[in-house]
Amino acid sequence: MSKSADPLAIARDLIRCPSVTPTEGGALGYLEARLEGAGFAVHRVTFRAPGAADVENLFARVGAGRPHLVFAGHTDVVPPGDEAAWTHPPFAAEVADGMLFGRGAADMKGAIACQLAAALDYVAACGGKPNGAISFLVTGDEEGVAVNGTIKLLAWAAARGEKFDHCILGEPTNPNALGDMIKIGRRGSQNGTLIVAGTPGHVAYPALADNPVRGIIALMGALMAEPLDAGSAHFDPSNLEFTSVDVGNTTVNVIPGEARARFNIRYNDRHTREALRALVERRAAAAAGRVRWRIDWEPSNADVFLTQPGRFVDLVAGAVAELTGRKPELSTTGGTSDARFIKDYCPVIEFGLANQTMHKIDERVPTADLVALTAIYRRILERYFENPPQ
Ligand SMILES: [Zn+2]
Repeated sequence: MSKSADPLAIARDLIRCPSVTPTEGGALGYLEARLEGAGFAVHRVTFRAPGAADVENLFARVGAGRPHLVFAGHTDVVPPGDEAAWTHPPFAAEVADGMLFGRGAADMKGAIACQLAAALDYVAACGGKPNGAISFLVTGDEEGVAVNGTIKLLAWAAARGEKFDHCILGEPTNPNALGDMIKIGRRGSQNGTLIVAGTPGHVAYPALADNPVRGIIALMGALMAEPLDAGSAHFDPSNLEFTSVDVGNTTVNVIPGEARARFNIRYNDRHTREALRALVERRAAAAAGRVRWRIDWEPSNADVFLTQPGRFVDLVAGAVAELTGRKPELSTTGGTSDARFIKDYCPVIEFGLANQTMHKIDERVPTADLVALTAIYRRILERYFENPPQ
């Protein structure tokens, strides 16, 4: 591989840009220069929303037409926490004992460096003219509220006529070692609050009051009693977890007038959001008797999705297996990611570095993994344009 496409050097340059959300920190400017140098048309786009910080994003494409493969990711990072607790400073990108240390090394400047190194090498190898198009869709708003990032950048690109065939998101997906896991979907997430109304009164005169604690315990018990489903071909069972229960009572002698319990549901592809809400409400109603209750559902943009196994997933899994010797598990575990937005435009899978140290003090990746991941992305590019998966 040429010196100009050294993923370790790129990762170190990116880590030295202190791009804690929503700060650009020089990271997108760096990518812009590298991509433009390789013949990509680069756009820097800033999105705004009331109550949220302005966020810079980047879209770049080389080539034209189909197939169109997109590398997606984010250059923003979570704050370093107690900098004195780091063995090597969080934005110094020092290498020690074969490891690259720094905030974003795993999540996910390391993977962006590998995507870039692989793309620069591949584009150079095909004389700047891939047999289709290669894009970079990079946001600075993934670790924050995520309202001025990927969701808007996708809409912006679509409005310009960009059509994507497949996307690889470089989030850190491997629980232990490179090659462990590809994510082919994510569960949906839904927050709600169960509210039970009572009649407040003196604890010594319970007949004159109606304690909502009794009712909320019964309803919570009913909602926790049975799993929401038994899982599906590619997903774990859906799960409802209560996260807070409270009556806000500051006294010891007053029966409260209302009780609230907050909960979150991680749900699989056996449910749509609407059907899931209806199922929970049916179960609550069946247990309610005379309890006066309601559920307030929070709006959410985290819907369940699955990229069906097939030629694209096989192509990626095959490249991973060839270069790591591991057969990656096809998983839908973990929290939400920007793939939840990308799936509305094209099939998306996630494969990146190992995730043990993401968001932690001493975040780090083996430098050998940067070389290996670059080789994986490079092979994917070659196979993809040799024999497009659709
Ligand atoms: Zn991330």
